Amino acid sequence: MSAEPLNPIQQMVLDSLAKRPDFVPSAPGLADEIEAHVSEALEPIAVNYTPAHPLKISKHVLNTVHGCEARYVANRDTFAWSVPLVRGTVLHKAIELLINVRGPRTPSDIVDDALDRIVESERGTASDFIASLSPAEQAELRATVVDLVTKYEDSFPPLKPEWRPVVESNAKAELCGGSIFLTSRTDLTIGPPGSKVIIDLKTGRPSATHREDLRFYSLVEILKSRQAPRLAATFNVDTQRIDAEPVTTDTLRSAVRRLVEGAQLLDELDRRRRPATKSPGFTCRWCSLLSSCDDGRTFLETDSDNSDAY
Ligand code: SF4
Repeated sequence: MSAEPLNPIQQMVLDSLAKRPDFVPSAPGLADEIEAHVSEALEPIAVNYTPAHPLKISKHVLNTVHGCEARYVANRDTFAWSVPLVRGTVLHKAIELLINVRGPRTPSDIVDDALDRIVESERGTASDFIASLSPAEQAELRATVVDLVTKYEDSFPPLKPEWRPVVESNAKAELCGGSIFLTSRTDLTIGPPGSKVIIDLKTGRPSATHREDLRFYSLVEILKSRQAPRLAATFNVDTQRIDAEPVTTDTLRSAVRRLVEGAQLLDELDRRRRPATKSPGFTCRWCSLLSSCDDGRTFLETDSDNSDAY
């Protein structure tokens, strides 16, 4: 924990996350109400699945199917690392180490440790992709993440142990007797159940889906812990700005609507009832179908923002 006074950006972030004097925890019956609501809406879909073969829904799956169905179908059974993805993995590992390692460390030290940990612990996944990069590409990857970790340190307030910070926390919620289950992996949480703050770390351009991501996490959290989080926030490491939204009945109901619409799309596509549609967007740039997709290429030719995001 640093004894240094906070700089103006750190103070602004801290103020955004602070508990308001008028904060009231979620009502005891809200979790039951939300669960009943989402279970009823999903029941027509759940009958197509079983606890042994459930419909699994994560933030990534929801975003992909809502973004472009053709991309979802193309990537459904495969996963390929890319530079933006591995950059996010190294950044998250570096921030995990930054928060938990005692003693002063430079961003370069932290990133080197993060790269070492990934190479040691994730052989066969990110480590193989990193190993496949040329020395120059590996140097670029390291430099980019050092820049991001420096920005994080310069703008996010140091976390005190009594705030109960947890990084990369997994959660799971079963619905409809286990025929549908939701999974989440939050970048950072602060605080106890009932007053928890969920924080997603992003880079690149801000996106309307970022709030949707957080609302999905909040939904999983209330279904799991039976208490709604207090706040859900996106911290953009590039812009060093935070977007915090109080978790309310309305935001949870919005998450339920998006979840149910996504589950319907997944069910239709997974059981091959209809062909997938194409919806060009900034994610076309990482799509494995891009070379054969006129819609995606046309979109990117006219898109002025070429920043990466994850
Ligand atoms: S390139 Fe874009 S529009 Fe085409 S399939 Fe991929 S994500 Fe969809």
